[in-house]
Formats: sequence, structure tokens, C-alpha cells
Amino acid sequence: MQPRKGLLFSALIAFMAAMPADAQWLSHSESIMGTRVSVELWHANSAERATDCAGRVFREMRRIDKLMSPFRPDSELSTVNRDAAIQPVPVSPELYELIRRSLEFSRLSGGAFDISFASIGYRYDYRRGIRPDAASIASAIDNIDYRQIRLEGGRIRFGRPGMRIDLGGIAKGYAVDRSIELLRDCGIEHALVSAGGDSRLLGDRNGRPWMIGIRHPRREGEVALRLPLENSAISTSGDYERFFVSNGERVHHIINPRTGKSAAGSWSSTVIGPDATTTDALSTALFVLGPERGLKLIDQLDGLDAIIIDATGQIHYSSGLMAADPSSG
Ligand code: AMP
Ligand code: MG
Repeated sequence: MQPRKGLLFSALIAFMAAMPADAQWLSHSESIMGTRVSVELWHANSAERATDCAGRVFREMRRIDKLMSPFRPDSELSTVNRDAAIQPVPVSPELYELIRRSLEFSRLSGGAFDISFASIGYRYDYRRGIRPDAASIASAIDNIDYRQIRLEGGRIRFGRPGMRIDLGGIAKGYAVDRSIELLRDCGIEHALVSAGGDSRLLGDRNGRPWMIGIRHPRREGEVALRLPLENSAISTSGDYERFFVSNGERVHHIINPRTGKSAAGSWSSTVIGPDATTTDALSTALFVLGPERGLKLIDQLDGLDAIIIDATGQIHYSSGLMAADPSSG
């Protein structure tokens, strides 16, 4: 959803190591939703059909961006932001459902994930190095409160004037999930779809797991660690995605809803789970929560794991990953 993420590969790098050029693999990437969207898929016989399937994915990503971008004045999301404090705004079932799920992740994370972060978040401009001052944060901090986002039978209403929402922490994962469903319906059995830091894998890669790299949060172009994965989703949130430095302080795009400022304590957080909507929302939540509270939350949830790189560079693993690693004690 963020147009300024640029063309750079984001938190994740998919490795195509040890793969000779193979006519049966199709890969393509484009800039959509302010990030790099990539699709890699294997097709058994028809290259034409594979191209058609990949095309559907990119069309779907553009459709979702049109619906949910806060930067398009004509998006449904922009209509909600303009009117929902005045009167309930009827929305599509799709947007309604994603907002509903966002509120679930807010409750699950004790408010660390909160799409109303945008009530202050919109005042940051990372490209131009602009941030709100203490007085404007203080005057708007009460507008960050997911409990004031009301779902009223297909309509959205805000409980406070000045409230805004932004789905930047969950919509890319949602778009990746939709894309994987489309590919599956298209008859594809092996694929990788990624949008910036959010990826999902369908099947494996030629009988072996996909190797997914987690970007090193401080060394550009380097990978901190690699994970073998199949049939799962992985999302990374990092303070290196969109930021500027002011008086030695890194001002970045993940906002702590309690303070209205950039969340401190981590360099990046990665969540692995069954679907990318979940991993996307939870990676953002874990970034805000930090290693201790974040991993405690993940350890209580079934089917989810996480890796947090803290603000000293130390790597913390959820207990599921510790159990899987024979070298850990
Ligand atoms: P991600 O890379 O998935 O962590 O998404 C970061 C994006 O999520 C930011 O660019 C914002 O659009 C949005 N965001 C920032 N802080 C929060 C928060 N506390 N809760 C939900 N979304 C957030
Ligand atoms: Mg996220």
C-alpha cells in the first residue's frame, strides 16, 4: 500500500539457488502497491496458461490496491476516512471483512496492531523527513484506538472525529493470499508470491523446500538467515523499509499506537504461519511488542513461529523454532 517503498527488494529475498534455467518455471515481477510484487510458478505443460495465471495475480494486486490505497482519493478506504466520523459508510464485503480481521489482530495483540495508527501516521513523511511534533501527537493520540472503529452491518463508523485508518500493515499479506488462491484455482501446484516483505509458498520447489532469506536489517544486500519452507507464509517487518534519521534517531514507518512514535526495541520481526494475512498483521504487531512480549504471544498461538532481531542485533526465536533446531540447547 505504500508508494514510497521503492523498487528495492524488501525484507525478503527469494533464493533461486541451484536452479538451472528451466523452461517450466515462469517468474515475473512488477511494482504495485508501492512495493515489488513477484510471482514464480511451475507449470507442467502449457507456458501460455502459466502466463495467463501469472497475469491474473498482477491484475488482482492492482484491484486490491485501487480498493484499499490511502493514497488514492477515489479508493474505498479514502471514502471511509473522509466520512466515517460523520456517518456510517457502507463498504464492500471485502473491505469490511479485512477491517474486521484487523480488529481481531488488534484484540489479539493488545492494541499493538491498530489500523487507526494512521490518525497520527499520516502526518509522517519519510521521504521528506517530516514528523509530527509532540503537541500534535498529544492532540491526536486518543484517535488511535481500534475500539472506536465500529462495524455496523456492512458499514464502518468511527467513534471519534479525526480518526483515520490505513491497511498498510495487513493488505499486502491479504493480496498475497488472494493471489495464491487464484493460482491454485488456475491449477498451479508450486508457486511463490511475494509483495515486499510478505510471501507465501504453494507447494515446494522441485521436490525441495523453498529457501527464503530474511534480510539483514543493517547490512544492505545481506541475508541474516535462511529458512526452508513450503506451503506456508512468511512476513518480515523492519525499521529499514521507510525511515529517516533525525538527531541520531531513526524515525520509521511502524508506529507504536500508545506513543504515536516509531516503535523502538527491534530492527525486524518475522512471522511464519499458514496464511500471509495473519503473518503480515502479526509481524507488524510483533515489531511493536518487541522480543519478550512478541514471542510470548506467538508461543501461545498454534501454527505460528517468529524470529525477532532486536535493537542490538541479537536474534530471538519462538519456542517452535528452538525445538526444531538441533543445535539449540
Ligand atoms: P509491515 O511492513 O507489514 O510491518 O507494514 C508496515 C506498515 O503498516 C506501515 O507502513 C503502516 O502502513 C502500517 N502500520 C504502522 N504501524 C502500524 C501499527 N501499529 N498497526 C497496524 N499497522 C501499522
Ligand atoms: Mg505487516
